[in-house]
Formats: sequence, structure tokens, C-alpha cells
Amino acid sequence: MIKLSRRLQRIADYVTEGARVADIGSDHALLPVYLLQIGKCPSAIAGELNAGPLQAAKKQAADAGLKSRISARQGNGLAVLEPGEADTVTIAGMGGSLMSAILEEGHASGKLVGVKELVLQPNVGEDEVREWLLEKGWFLAAESILEEDGKIYEVLHAVNDPNAASQNQSIYNGDFLGLAYEKELLHRVLLRMGPYLLRESSPVLTLKWKSEIKKLERIIAQMSGSELAESAAKAEQFRKEIGIIEEVLQCLQTGIR
Ligand code: SAM
Repeated sequence: MIKLSRRLQRIADYVTEGARVADIGSDHALLPVYLLQIGKCPSAIAGELNAGPLQAAKKQAADAGLKSRISARQGNGLAVLEPGEADTVTIAGMGGSLMSAILEEGHASGKLVGVKELVLQPNVGEDEVREWLLEKGWFLAAESILEEDGKIYEVLHAVNDPNAASQNQSIYNGDFLGLAYEKELLHRVLLRMGPYLLRESSPVLTLKWKSEIKKLERIIAQMSGSELAESAAKAEQFRKEIGIIEEVLQCLQTGIR
């Protein structure tokens, strides 16, 4: 039986028992193979854009004796799916922009019709993914953050729910932070840092945003040599960003939420 990394395991944990799963950008098809091996899913589609990873996915499925139940298909994003073929779509290990573009194209071409849940693990740009889910009426049911091999990952679980709008309204209500920010800024903070992650306020979340502050400080220091007005404006914007992150972390630490 395949042993998954903690990151992939967390994704697997969110998949609903009995779901027909489509893993998009499946590379070695580790997730589909595992889900079938443990009996959580009856069948899976492993979608891959590139030939090399597709071959690796096919080999993994064959080696596990699951060739007949894992369909490895080459194609761009959700194009590999027929509408109604999957209950769960997982996408992991790529940037939030690419992930949102894949979801948007899939949504526009009807490939998400009948899909009940999305399990998404963007490497960066989590806010873009949260924003896409919100705009398209997916309920963000859960999210988690974990550290593995010095990297921090966020996993989002969204479900197709008729009450998504009102449920999202409630989770994206930032009053719990106790910050006197304008509505729009507060909303951006929740999209960026995660409405559940902020409520849970784990040490890994603090670690992530402290390291983000360090990154921004390094960029500001690099810009300080430039005399361009644009650099000064950008540096000022980053300083404001740091200020906001620090305020949010401060309020999490003091437990005002
Ligand atoms: N999902 C696996 C994981 O999280 O361990 C593999 C992640 S790997 C870094 C990203 C994979 O996505 C690569 O195999 C790449 O070929 C594939 N990929 C990138 N863009 C894609 C697209 N538009 N459609 C399908 N697959 C894509």
C-alpha cells in the first residue's frame, strides 16, 4: 500500500467515502492509487497535461494492479472529464492562478456539473482560489494548514451546497477578528489568510505569516537602492501589507476573536 506524504494524506482525508474522484495534475497518480487501495473510492481519473507525468501515472496504476479502475488521461485541466463522471475533483501542487484558471475553464465548459466537492491544495496564491470559490458559489466547508519538510501547505475543501451563499457569508464575516478595518480590507484579509485558519489560529499559521513578513522586508531592503518612484510606491505598499499582517497576528495572539 502506498504511503502518502502528510500533504497528500490531508487531501485524501477530505475526499468523501465512495466518491468517484478525478485528480487533475496527477503526476504519479499517488492520490488516486491510495484512495482505491484503502477502498475509499471505487474508481478514479488521473488527468495530466504532460506526457512524462502521464506515463508515471499509468505505471503507478498498473504496478498497483489498478489499471482497470484508474483511467489516466492526457489533457489540459478538466478537459479530460466528461460532465457527470466525477463526484470529487482534487487539484494539488500548483499555483493558485493556474488552479483558478483550470477551475474557471472547467466551470465554463460544464465539466463541474455534478461535481459535489473540490479538494484543492494551491502552493501559492490561496486567496485567488478562495475568491474563485466564493464567486462561483462553492461553500468553503473546511481548510487546514500543515508543515512538511520545511514547507507550509494549505488545503481547501469546498462543497457544492445550495446554501453556499449564506454559509459563505457567515464564514467570511470578519467581526471575530475585532479589527476596525473597512469591510473591503477585512474581506481581503480573510481571503488571503483563510477564514477557518484565522479562527483556528495555529502555530503553523503564525509561522507562515512571520516568514511572509520576512520575505516582504527583504524585498523592501532590495528596493531601497532604487530611485524610481514606482519602487518607492511598491515599498510603501509592502510596508502597509506588513503592518496589516502584524496587526492580525497580534490580535490572534491576544485571543481577540
Ligand atoms: N498533484 C500532484 C501532487 O500534488 O503531488 C503533482 C503535482 S505536480 C507539482 C503538478 C502537476 O500538474 C505536473 O505533473 C504537471 O504536469 C501538471 N499540470 C500542470 N498544468 C496542468 C494542467 N493545466 N492540466 C493538467 N495537469 C497539469
